[in-house]
Amino acid sequence: MKNEWDCLVVGCGFAGAVIAREHAERGGKRVLIIDKRSHIGGNAYDSYNNDGILIHNYGPHIFHTQSSRVFDYLSRFTKWRNYSHEVLADIYGKRIPVPFNLNSLYLSFEHAKAKRLEQKLISVYGWEKRVTISELRGQTDSELLELADFIYENVFMHYTQKQWGTAPEDIDPSVTARVPILISYDNRYFQDKYQGIPAEGYTSLFEKLIDHPNIELQLNTDSASVLKLVGGKKFLNDKPFYGRVIYTGAIDELFNCCFGRLPYRTLEFLFETHEKTWYQPKGTINYTVDRPYTRITEFKHITGQIVPDKTTIMKEYPREYTDAGREIPYYAIMNTENLVLYERYKELAESIDDFYLLGRLAEYKYYNMDVIVERALMLADSIIV
Ligand code: FAD
Ligand code: UDP
Repeated sequence: MKNEWDCLVVGCGFAGAVIAREHAERGGKRVLIIDKRSHIGGNAYDSYNNDGILIHNYGPHIFHTQSSRVFDYLSRFTKWRNYSHEVLADIYGKRIPVPFNLNSLYLSFEHAKAKRLEQKLISVYGWEKRVTISELRGQTDSELLELADFIYENVFMHYTQKQWGTAPEDIDPSVTARVPILISYDNRYFQDKYQGIPAEGYTSLFEKLIDHPNIELQLNTDSASVLKLVGGKKFLNDKPFYGRVIYTGAIDELFNCCFGRLPYRTLEFLFETHEKTWYQPKGTINYTVDRPYTRITEFKHITGQIVPDKTTIMKEYPREYTDAGREIPYYAIMNTENLVLYERYKELAESIDDFYLLGRLAEYKYYNMDVIVERALMLADSIIV
């Protein structure tokens, strides 16, 4: 590898691919992208399994956004399959829509009571409003409180315990706020203006995104083996590197975990192919009270792939992240202590000349794909001259 690059991008997920494209295209820069995995796309990577079914290798990825800039930008690299994700919560075998909405209400309570609760919800919060579980639990009306307890117990408590290893009130409130209570009959998991799945899959989108004469890609390359940071200076393959670096990996690993490891949650995925057309009625069923896994996803619902005689599903088992060599850090655990530790690493990164942190791992945040794309475009706006 020669140091002939204007820009080194570490990681080829959404953050890395978009910022690389922008430097290559808008900035006319020669960009090298490295990724330690054997493929592009980061956690949004998809591929065909041995049964010929298109799967999302790192968990179900549904694109949704309010941003026309993000949607228009990605639409340069893909056509879209119209898809609105729907999720059911399985509560001891009974299934209701999640986010909990007015349909869920009528499935959970007898009609007269559901009607009363519906009227109360509309009069307190308003039609089509989104209410977080912590807001609802703060209600003083005894019937609404009973409803809050029901939703807390049957939708949030056990699922969150499995996902995060702790109770909902012990994690950052923004996490459970992602799945509000919806005062409407809308069964969709997301209400964003734009939603869909790349028509040819995410990997194909990524191939087009990085297909530019100024971009070179090297897979199976960990930045730890090529990039050194010494005294605020950058070295690429042991030679001083005066170009720009955009780093989208885990920030603690960048500095050899010198202040200690940042905690994450990881996931174990179990894939099964069944000899039938469909396994379940919707793309995802959340097991919110029992079962050791959090959810089962059936990919054909999401991808639209037509295969009559088989279908692949995936079970997700959340775990504590303990083995950086074998596991993937999927979720930052955002609490005060961890954010203080993160800030120490960030300060170190800021002391390096022309060096930027971008993405879910590097920023230690719970960002969706669209937010990452938006942040990459905004960073490009501010640093590409
Ligand atoms: P990543 O996709 O993690 O990419 C980082 C890349 O950097 C990886 O390829 C990694 O191999 C590479 N890398 C890391 N360290 C190094 C290093 N030292 N050297 C070289 N390469 C390195 N978002 C949605 O909008 N909708 C969804 O439905 C959705 N579902 C999700 C489901 C799950 C289970 C998970 C975990 C996430 C989901 N997301 C979803 C979030 C989405 O995955 C992220 O927003 C997106 O992947 C972030 O992109 P990124 O580039 O920041 O990170
Ligand atoms: N959640 C829950 N029950 C559900 C769905 C979500 O308790 O049926 C909580 C859980 O804490 C989860 C968070 O809400 O981590 C956010 O859920 P989301 O589906 O947005 O998580 P994702 O899978 O996208 O990371």
